[in-house]
Amino acid sequence: MQGFNASITEGAPFDPNIKDGRRADTRPPKSNWARSITTGPFYAFPVTCGITFTFGGLKTDTWGRVLTEDAEPLEGLFACGEALGGLFSGNYPGGSGLAAGAVFGRRAGSIA
Ligand SMILES: Cc1cc2nc3c(=O)[nH]c(=O)nc-3n(C[C@H](O)[C@H](O)[C@H](O)COP(=O)(O)OP(=O)(O)OC[C@H]3O[C@@H](n4cnc5c(N)ncnc54)[C@H](O)[C@@H]3O)c2cc1C
Repeated sequence: MQGFNASITEGAPFDPNIKDGRRADTRPPKSNWARSITTGPFYAFPVTCGITFTFGGLKTDTWGRVLTEDAEPLEGLFACGEALGGLFSGNYPGGSGLAAGAVFGRRAGSIA
């Protein structure tokens, strides 16, 4: 713990919404928001990451019909949910993953 505390770099005041570059020597390296651990009791718990969206997928029209490179619908092929690409870029509004799947899935189902 002393090694961890000593390795923390200087940086901006703590703001969980802004990467502050305050690093610490851990494996893998902690790259932001490092703060000294000074006052117990201490608790440890495992943390892992997950993929919420890929943002990638097939291009469709607004009815979920998969399009060719020439923007022509491919007969009988539909995509929605995680199979649909081009809906989001960089970020997304909360709840829009499930909503998009339901909306575009229903639209595709209504003409399939
Ligand atoms: C951790 C996490 C949190 C999220 N939080 C939110 C949230 O708060 N709000 C929100 O709107 N969205 C959220 N999302 C995104 C949302 O869950 C997805 O956008 C949505 O579930 C995608 O639906 P889908 O039907 O396209 O795909 P999926 O839900 O992935 O369904 C695909 C299904 O196909 C099955 N499958 C795969 N391969 C085969 C195969 N060969 N044969 C048969 N079945 C197969 C899988 O088992 C799965 O059941 C979250 C995602 C994650 C991972």
